[in-house]
Amino acid sequence: PALVQLVDLVKNYYMGTQTVHVLKGLNLSFDEGDFIALMGPSGSGKSTLLNILGCLDRPTSGRYYLAGMDVSQMDDDQLSEIRSSYLGFIFQSYNLLPQYTVVENIELPLLYQGVRLDERTRQHCIALAEMVGLGDRLDHRPLQLSGGQQQRVAIARSLVNNPHLILGDEPTGNLDTRTSIEIMQMLRELNRLGKTIIMVTHENDIAAWARRVVRLRDGRVESDTRNDSRTVVE
Ligand code: ADP
Ligand code: ADP
Repeated sequence: PALVQLVDLVKNYYMGTQTVHVLKGLNLSFDEGDFIALMGPSGSGKSTLLNILGCLDRPTSGRYYLAGMDVSQMDDDQLSEIRSSYLGFIFQSYNLLPQYTVVENIELPLLYQGVRLDERTRQHCIALAEMVGLGDRLDHRPLQLSGGQQQRVAIARSLVNNPHLILGDEPTGNLDTRTSIEIMQMLRELNRLGKTIIMVTHENDIAAWARRVVRLRDGRVESDTRNDSRTVVE
């Protein structure tokens, strides 16, 4: 079943008298449990699309259905609610707070949502840290960790609300090849466990880990292909 359905999705930016047409009527549907790489040259609309998928921005016209709900018509409060109950975010720059420990960084989304932190939420976050292999680093701060470890904290944080959909913005963009493979193995494992993943990347080696590759060019879908399972050499 489709977790995400985009119907004639258009995004324009208005700058003075100029209209910038960024997404020019996308029709795409992403199945629950799929793993999608979003590619395309700089300026093709990837970030704009990811922001809309992440309910951080709204389309100019067209529809975005997430788990059957028309999120393109929702107001800011409703979108914020959708972000915290359906979505997890991973960024190229990890976006961790330096003064917070590993476990506190994982707790952050709960804190932002006004969830009361207690022993139960603490144990939940510790379990997530253990899941990403950082059970012995709970009280470390980001700067005491390698880039790969920081991204693993970010992955644990993205899971804190048990999201349906994980959105990645160049999640391996700051990592060396070996560490990138480690992170992709982790994302693949999450996908095996049922998480739907959509990640922007400009690297073919990274896109090869996805099941499906959608290429944008100039605000339109240029190609949409399935990787066969032998593409990746682990
Ligand atoms: P990509 O992520 O593929 O590089 P973007 O989605 O960032 O592409 O940008 C697509 C186009 O939209 C670019 O031409 C960019 O200049 C334009 N754009 C993006 N954000 C804005 C904005 N806030 N205002 C005006 N133009 C924008
Ligand atoms: P870029 O990749 O374009 O440099 P980022 O990926 O760092 O930008 O962030 C994109 C936007 O998403 C930012 O405005 C950031 O504040 C916002 N953001 C980051 N995490 C979350 C979250 N968990 N919920 C809602 N918004 C978020």
